[in-house]
Amino acid sequence: MRLIFYVVVGVIILTLLRSVFEAVGKAFSGGSPSPAPPSSSAPGGQAPQSLKKDPVCGTFVSMATAMQKTKGGETYYFCSAACRDKF
Ligand SMILES: [Zn+2]
Repeated sequence: MRLIFYVVVGVIILTLLRSVFEAVGKAFSGGSPSPAPPSSSAPGGQAPQSLKKDPVCGTFVSMATAMQKTKGGETYYFCSAACRDKF
């Protein structure tokens, strides 16, 4: 069973040598270019969320999700149906 031992040792040595050569190759290839920082940072100036003040409780609510009620030609925004009903 000596042959298997030599084969295993040979594979290990080859693997080590290959990793060494890869490391040396990288070192001599002018330095790996630093990976560019992922430009996934959120776009700084997103459209300002249009917030409306709930006239009942004073909470600022997003126009997109707020309850709405039109009164006297003006649209009011509320945080909840309870506030809207109180208005
Ligand atoms: Zn409210």
